[in-house]
Amino acid sequence: MPRGDGTGPPSGSGPGRGRGAGRGGKGAGRMRGTTPGAGPGGDCVCPNCGARISHRVGTPCYNLICTKCGTKMVRG
Ligand SMILES: [Zn+2]
Repeated sequence: MPRGDGTGPPSGSGPGRGRGAGRGGKGAGRMRGTTPGAGPGGDCVCPNCGARISHRVGTPCYNLICTKCGTKMVRG
């Protein structure tokens, strides 16, 4: 294998420039809960101001609106 006068690999495999490195999204990831379909009980939480209200069975938290800031509630 003649080698020494290497001109380098034909197609350089350098570190590609910028791609990936996702910039943080704004919205909080939805459904990062531990239990899918959390059972009855628990709280609904406002992701914006942190207000909590007790969850009503049969009413998904995201159907509730925070009484303080108007943000949709999420499962707490
Ligand atoms: Zn709120």
